[in-house]
Amino acid sequence: MAIYLDNAATTKPCLSALEQASVFVTEKFYNPSGMYNEGFALQSELKKARSALLSEVADESAFELFFTSCGTESDNHAVFSCARRGNAVTTLGEHSAVANAFAELKNRGIAEPRFASLDKDGRVNVEKLLALVDEKTSFVSVMHVNNEIGAINDINAIAKLVKAKNPRVIVHSDGVQAYGKIPFKLDKAVDLYSISAHKIGGLKGVGALIKRKTLTLSPYIFGGGQEAGKRSGTENVFGIKQFEYASKAKFASLKEDFDRILTYREKLWQLLDKEVYTRLSSEDGTPYIISVSARGLRGEILLHMANDKGLIIGTGSACSSNAKLRYSKVLLACGYDEKTADGALRLSFSGETTESEIIQAAQILNEVGRDLKRRMR
Ligand code: PLP
Repeated sequence: MAIYLDNAATTKPCLSALEQASVFVTEKFYNPSGMYNEGFALQSELKKARSALLSEVADESAFELFFTSCGTESDNHAVFSCARRGNAVTTLGEHSAVANAFAELKNRGIAEPRFASLDKDGRVNVEKLLALVDEKTSFVSVMHVNNEIGAINDINAIAKLVKAKNPRVIVHSDGVQAYGKIPFKLDKAVDLYSISAHKIGGLKGVGALIKRKTLTLSPYIFGGGQEAGKRSGTENVFGIKQFEYASKAKFASLKEDFDRILTYREKLWQLLDKEVYTRLSSEDGTPYIISVSARGLRGEILLHMANDKGLIIGTGSACSSNAKLRYSKVLLACGYDEKTADGALRLSFSGETTESEIIQAAQILNEVGRDLKRRMR
């Protein structure tokens, strides 16, 4: 079995959650909008799932949650339902689900997108972000945990500062890499928060958008009026229930996993050959992601060499293979040069990652890094 350290791209589905949810495929397969008892029963299962997933990070009296097909849809919903004439502000660190949606705001003539710069550690520079917010700003989106470098933005504090400047702004945060991984409770200053199942043992194709109850949000997908009219389309009951069960397990061991994975991240760094690798992720980022660079070498080649030796890692965002970008825009925005960005590798962990995998991964990375460096001479 290969050692899998690309958990920021996706995680192995939680098997016990799959088993527990299987009844929603085999027996309780009904349409949850059906006007018969079996349909009503599924509505109440969906309600339980909404409440369970929401209560882990938010006060249920102030927030509600509706299901979407993925984190990308949740992000797009937030952007296209909230950005109005004037400007909308985000950061240069965002995942393409937000970054490309902001670019589209300009293409469609909806709003002027503004991008706040990052500090070296990958967090948004809050002063620069606030300088972009003015009386014409309708929407601000700041990611919680960066998917490439692992930086954590204090989104509650940022949301309060944004609202102190312009109380009419709607604040969104992409919480896809944070939910179920770092201890956190949403403050009411944050209006919208995106999450995705497959990053924490759920299945691909299930996400949710958490919203402040008093915020009126127009639909992004129109149709039969499911999810209280906010997101039409027959719900994926099996995927949603599996997400609920997987997240229950994740949150139950969140603190324990956080502390253990933190020691693994540091152990991995400690074992890496510093003649080959430099560290890009700072120590106060998420324990689940470490980005390093073999400056002067190509990260993509190292990825393939490591792959051949049984280690699966990433070079940055999982979507970069689609985007065909040689250099990570996020790393350049942190102030790293092209050579450093070109040599970047992302290693990302899950609650299942073991210490022995970390030790073997470091050995493989050292072997391939030294080997390629020798050949480049
Ligand atoms: N936002 C962040 C920060 C991510 O890391 C990802 C996935 O890589 C997404 C959004 C997109 O989520 P999904 O794969 O569920 O569409």
